[in-house]
Amino acid sequence: MKVVIVGGVAGGATAAARIRRLDEQAEIVVFERSGYVSYANCGLPYYIGGVITDPEELTLQTPERFFSRFRISMKVRHEVTAIHPEKKAVSVTNLETGEAFEESYDKLLLSPGAKPAQPRLPGIGIRKLFTLRTVEDTLKLLNNQFTDEMMSELTYYVDVEGRDVDEVAHEFLVSAGLLEE
Ligand SMILES: Cc1cc2nc3c(=O)[nH]c(=O)nc-3n(C[C@H](O)[C@H](O)[C@H](O)COP(=O)(O)OP(=O)(O)OC[C@H]3O[C@@H](n4cnc5c(N)ncnc54)[C@H](O)[C@@H]3O)c2cc1C
Repeated sequence: MKVVIVGGVAGGATAAARIRRLDEQAEIVVFERSGYVSYANCGLPYYIGGVITDPEELTLQTPERFFSRFRISMKVRHEVTAIHPEKKAVSVTNLETGEAFEESYDKLLLSPGAKPAQPRLPGIGIRKLFTLRTVEDTLKLLNNQFTDEMMSELTYYVDVEGRDVDEVAHEFLVSAGLLEE
């Protein structure tokens, strides 16, 4: 049996590992659009806040480790762009090379997660508006240079998904001088 999974973070990676435990022979291929797999989103605010300092701790799993441990093929920077149920195949684009190809499956599992919503509120058009969902979002936020001009014009909308996001994001914004206590 060949299983194709779309999305390789919490849902997709967990399902892949579970399928391997249930079926030693299955061929399992995971396509992940971002550059990272099976990481802990909940650690991202702690990395921003400086509680976690080693980026390796965010991404304990790599495609190589996944393959050697579970014989699961994790293809990062690969986006599934269409599903063809009639021929049991998906269209995939390799985001590094631009190569497009089809991958067949016996079973297809969709675990594409979600994207942060940006509500249509006054201030949404500001030059720098960050959302935090992925490792890439985290690095983008940390690598950004905030100028005084930007800071003075910014309006903040902190999307609080959990207590940790609330606390750590708040601490980070206060320590960075971006928010008053
Ligand atoms: C900052 C933050 C803190 C959190 N803290 C906690 C916590 O403390 N406790 C808790 O229980 N939960 C927490 N969560 C929620 C938890 O991380 C999510 O519920 C979980 O990540 C959902 O996993 P998922 O695999 O369903 O989706 P996602 O993590 O969104 O992963 C889906 C993946 O699918 C990929 N994908 C989508 N479409 C395609 C496509 N067409 N082709 C290829 N790949 C595709 C995306 O690139 C994405 O990486 C937190 C979330 C965030 C953002």
